[in-house]
Amino acid sequence: MAVNSTPDRPERPVATATRAPRRPRGEGQWALGHREPLNPNERIKKDDDPLNVRARIENIYAHRGFASIDPQDLRGRFRWWGLYTQRKAGIDGGRTAVLEPHELEDEFFMLRVRVDGGQLSLAQLRVVADISREFARDTADITDRQNIQYHWIRVEDMPEIWRRLESVGLQTTEACGDCPRIVLGSPVAGVARDEVLDPTPAIDEIVRRYVGDKQYSNLPRKFKSSISWLVDTPYEANDIAFLGVEHPDHGPGFDVWVGGGLSTNPMLAKRLGVWVPLAEVPDVWAGVVGIFRDYGYRRLRNRARLKFLVADWGVEKFREVLEKEYLGRALLDGPAPELPSKPLDHIGVREQADGRNYVGAAPVVGRVSGTQLAQLADVVEAHGSDRVRLTPYQKLLVLDVAPERTDSLVAALRGIGLEAEPSAWRRGTMACTGIEYCKLAIVETKARGEELVARLEERLRGFDADISIHINGCPNACARTQVADIGLKGQLVVGPDGRQVEGFQVHLGGGLGMAQGQTAGFGRKLRGLKTTAEELPGYVERVARRYLAGRAEGE
Ligand code: SF4
Repeated sequence: MAVNSTPDRPERPVATATRAPRRPRGEGQWALGHREPLNPNERIKKDDDPLNVRARIENIYAHRGFASIDPQDLRGRFRWWGLYTQRKAGIDGGRTAVLEPHELEDEFFMLRVRVDGGQLSLAQLRVVADISREFARDTADITDRQNIQYHWIRVEDMPEIWRRLESVGLQTTEACGDCPRIVLGSPVAGVARDEVLDPTPAIDEIVRRYVGDKQYSNLPRKFKSSISWLVDTPYEANDIAFLGVEHPDHGPGFDVWVGGGLSTNPMLAKRLGVWVPLAEVPDVWAGVVGIFRDYGYRRLRNRARLKFLVADWGVEKFREVLEKEYLGRALLDGPAPELPSKPLDHIGVREQADGRNYVGAAPVVGRVSGTQLAQLADVVEAHGSDRVRLTPYQKLLVLDVAPERTDSLVAALRGIGLEAEPSAWRRGTMACTGIEYCKLAIVETKARGEELVARLEERLRGFDADISIHINGCPNACARTQVADIGLKGQLVVGPDGRQVEGFQVHLGGGLGMAQGQTAGFGRKLRGLKTTAEELPGYVERVARRYLAGRAEGE
């Protein structure tokens, strides 16, 4: 089957019995003939391709305002252009599940800008900063998928925002929605000393060919991708991941993993066991997206991610379908990549392959402002660089710094609140959007993360171990609850006085990108282990002190 065809199953003969046999309900898979929408989300996508909503935004909604927006566009198709309505201020987490969507939202939007591979030029950084200050009340969070996320956006401003973004080659196309989201990439692609093959051309080609292509704009749910030579993205948590590996006969290429995803039924991606050369990465990527589109489950939203299909089929069948129906050829078997003892986050000063340095710096929980990004652009330019990278750990890098200017850059970054020598707490803590803006949230996350880091820096100054703390505002795990040393899932818990208050379910001991012997896996969800948000800093402090007291020599 070609990747752009979605054939229906042949018609069945009409049953002659008095009662027609009941057709099995199925999972809504297109390739098995189920083309009628089985839920409202599928209906919205079938009624009109969500990419078409851009014209309505530009021609109608931007002129007539928020109240004119068709609800199916507002809460459905807008996402394909990176737009979500944001949570109305002052609604507590206890009401998240009981209010109707329109009661939860205000007339402003969250807007995600995709920065595929996390790569930003100075010109792009300046535009991102300007938009933040002019249209987004100075918000510009760095997400853990290398996006920039604005808040307080008005629909009236979208035509001008798109004009400015697109003037420097940035876009919001398919930044959200049931479609191919941003492609994660190594923040040091093309400059790292230990990178053998720079995958940036494959990322660029995928974006050029397929983002905004209506053949791929109606998937069962979101589709997350990662392409890197180094283990510096959370690759196992993606629907598809390409990881660098050397083939003994064919040289450098990529090992392919499929079916990862966290959220409420977390699964780690599995190796297909194939080796793919750089030039073929886009075709293989499109084949896997094609399988997802045609065979992915569309009946229930909570079973619609690729991971469920991979779990049901197994990787052998998945590979066979990919080769026979989508690529029309067999793929080469490939070796497993070597995995480091821990994923790289690139914080600090490191030497590039060309002898210059890159500097990785940490804001706190990815929170930066447009003002700060504008200052960053000035600092970067003053130190002779033209390139910034965002990381999937809510951090950023400045590339191409001459060795003799590196100390000055580190000091200048510190002066604008970006720390290249951060504490273990600042370095390892991430937080999702949370109740401040997210309609699904149950608890506050960003401000709590900032408080937590400040408190731990004060109480455990000099803590010398790597530690990851991922704070999530609900079970959706946008900040990867299950794969942190301390993963925190927001929920209401019973406070000391018996009333429900904001708190967290704790997962301990998860990790990604681990070598044999330190196998990647999910943290243990300790049933009874919950903490109120207020007690969180004390709880983390106790865990850290216990770890320090009990750790083995050299651990
Ligand atoms: Fe929103 Fe929940 Fe995702 Fe946090 S984890 S951004 S609260 S959906």
